[in-house]
Amino acid sequence: MSLEALVARVPAKYRKLYTRTFEGAASPLQAIRAKCLECVAWHRHDGGDDRVAGCAARGCPLWSLRPFQARQVPQRATSGADTPLDGKSLVASRDAR
Ligand code: SF4
Repeated sequence: MSLEALVARVPAKYRKLYTRTFEGAASPLQAIRAKCLECVAWHRHDGGDDRVAGCAARGCPLWSLRPFQARQVPQRATSGADTPLDGKSLVASRDAR
């Protein structure tokens, strides 16, 4: 199948991204985004759920890099406590140094 035929199957809003990956003009993260969107047949949302962020295929090599995941606040244990640090705790921790 030609590139033109592949691109023609992609929804218009993703065609530029998809084309850039084949042209070598996309960043690695953009290429992963394109692959994940293609994987869910370009239907990212399914009844409100994000099918890429909620992807359960943990065996996929791209799983940990898939886009649209909620950002996680880095957790740092400074006193051996198991509780995640919130904003106030981080400021207190910084000021204590
Ligand atoms: S991480 Fe999930 S959505 Fe992305 S390519 Fe792998 S299986 Fe598909």
